[in-house]
Formats: sequence, C-alpha cells, structure tokens
Amino acid sequence: MNLFDVYPLFDIEIVKAQGSTLWDNKGKEYLDLYGGHAVISIGHSHPYYIKKIEKQLEQIGFYSNSIKIPQQKELAEKLGELSGYNDYQLFLCNSGAEANENALKVASFHTGRKKVITFTKSFHGRTSMAVAATDDKSIVAPVNETENILFLPFNDEQAFEQAMNNDVCAVIVEGIQGVGGVNIPTASFLRKIEAICKQHGALFILDEVQSGYGRSGKFFAHQYAGVKPDLITTAKGMGNGFPVAGVLISPEIKAKHSMLGTTFGGNYLACAAAIAVLDVIKEEKLIEHANTVGNKWMADLKKIKGVKEVRGFGLMIGVELEITCAEIRKKLLSDYNIFTGSASNKNVIRLLPALNVKQADIDTFNEAFKNVLAQSTVSA
Ligand code: PLP
Repeated sequence: MNLFDVYPLFDIEIVKAQGSTLWDNKGKEYLDLYGGHAVISIGHSHPYYIKKIEKQLEQIGFYSNSIKIPQQKELAEKLGELSGYNDYQLFLCNSGAEANENALKVASFHTGRKKVITFTKSFHGRTSMAVAATDDKSIVAPVNETENILFLPFNDEQAFEQAMNNDVCAVIVEGIQGVGGVNIPTASFLRKIEAICKQHGALFILDEVQSGYGRSGKFFAHQYAGVKPDLITTAKGMGNGFPVAGVLISPEIKAKHSMLGTTFGGNYLACAAAIAVLDVIKEEKLIEHANTVGNKWMADLKKIKGVKEVRGFGLMIGVELEITCAEIRKKLLSDYNIFTGSASNKNVIRLLPALNVKQADIDTFNEAFKNVLAQSTVSA
C-alpha cells in the first residue's frame, strides 16, 4: 500500500532527538526551531516525560471512558493551577481540530443557536466546522461548506460590533494567529469581543491550540489582554508530541451526559504525557524562560538587515521579510541544518522552538539567518 500523498516532504529521515537537537539516519545533526509545528514544548525526549509514559505503560495503556481514570483529574487540577483556570472544567480529546469542533458544539448546545463568527487569516483545523471557520478556501471541501459561518476582518472592532446579533452562538479567535503569519489580536479587540458576546448571550472561544501552554510567555496568549473566554482550546504543546487536546469550559456551562464523547480522549498514556509536560513547565520555569529569551530574541531579530517586521510574544515569533521566505528557509536547512516554519503569508518565517531552547541555539540561528539574508540580498 502507498501512503496518501498529502504532504510535500523534505528528503530527511530523523531517527533521534534530544532537547532542540535532531539527528538523521546518516548521523547529521539539526537544530529544531520549529518543534514540528509548535508541538515540542518541553524539548524532545525529556527524561522525566519518557519515564512518566514508560511507567504508565507498564501499569495500563488503555481502557475506555466508562470507568474512573484518576490521571484525568490530576491533569485537570494541574492544568487549572498552572493556567489560572482552576474553576473551569476540562474535556479531553486528541487534536486541535477536535478540540475546536467540541468547543463549537458546546457553544451551540448551550445557546441553542447555529451561527459562528470567525476572522480573516484564521486557522482552526481541517475537519467539519473547524475547517469551515478557517480562512483558506483551498482546504474546505464542498461537504464542509456551511452558511453558519461568518468571516469578519481581523482586529476590526467596528465591523464586529455591527455584525454581531442574537443568532450567534460563538465567536472563535486564535490567541495569536499562527498559520496566518503570527498576527496578534489587539487587547482592545479581544475585550470588545468579550463584552459584545456577553451582551448578545454568545460564547467567546479562544483557540490556544498553537499559542497556549506557555509558548507566548504567559500560559495562554489571551491573558495578555486580561479577557476570560467561555471556552479555551488547547492541543499542540500539551503532550509534547503525544496526541492530546482539551477544551477548558467555563463553570457557567453545565455538562449533560452524552453531550460530548470520545474513545481515545483522556487515555492513560495521553494523561501521563500531559501531566509530565505540566510538571516540567512548572519545575523548570519554562513560561518565564520563554518570556525572557523570546523578548530578547525578537529585539535581536529586529536589528537584522532584510527583516521588515517581527511579531509575537515569547517563543511564538513571526519574522516578516521584504521578500518571500521559501528560499531562505531552504538555505537555513541545507547550509546550516536549521528547521524553521512557514506561514500562509509567504514572507513570514515562523519560529516555534521548544520552551527550553538555549540562548546558544538562538545565537547560532541569528548568525546563520544574517548570512543567508545577506547572500540573498546580494544575489537578488
Ligand atoms: N488551531 C490552531 C490555532 C492551529 O494552529 C491548528 C494547527 O495548526 C489547529 C487548530 C488544528 O490542530 P490539529 O492539527 O491538531 O488538528
């Protein structure tokens, strides 16, 4: 059987990883400043994380959600404590898209309404309502098309205020737009959404799938704006590579049996991975680290010739160039063995390293980046 060919691939086979370092099958070493799409939060193969998962696997790997799984409670408690959302409820699932599907479903059940407001350049996943709420027509199949989604311009408070009405069940926005090119919602925009949602009885959903889990230098990026959404979705950094996702649900929203459900969500191994991630983030003070090194990095990046703009918070960084960045990223990989990320904005390089990335690795990147940009300016 062949694989369904949906990804353009680098001709690289990674066989080992540690911290922010990767090794391929020929022993070549790489610097990972992308974390496989912002997934690696506590660094590859963290020893505490490995031990936790191994130990859990020796006890029990899986049973269904029809029995008590105390690890789910431990995870919810630790997540509540570290995020500041102690009073919220947690629904566990497996991926970012699934978390958003469930958040939208909860909002619709709770309000009895159907309409959803989303914004330009958004990305919420590739399934059903999540992809319908994503601003990329090329990934929306005819079966995903719905009249229940309304797209509004990002950061346009007036357009939002005018469009909002009592048919809307939810407004969904990313803590920081990732795929769209690291675009930050203004604090005033988020506060406006919060206030107007309350006024109309609609729910406010914060998609923190990419920007959550300490990446921004706060546990959730929306905490910079001081808003408190009704629903928050998390995934990527939550399991450091183990598939686990969650929806944090306001105490105002009451659960009913069978309202949501999942076979794999919240399984023992996923909980072990997610608990290990939270323990390491807390123990190693990774949120503070992301904040400190991220801010310094952004300041340094701004000084590099050829950089038009640097956007982000903490270690979620978008570097916008004067030129398209595909060739720059290719050179960083082929000549300097550094993985970086792209965005739907072709001029933006995304930097999403592990939260414990070392300053020395950042310095290595900055030097390489300077050289590659200087060469491309000369040859342009
Ligand atoms: N939401 C955001 C903000 C994302 O960046 C992504 C993935 O990139 C998703 C949702 C979808 O997550 P997943 O690929 O785990 O379904």
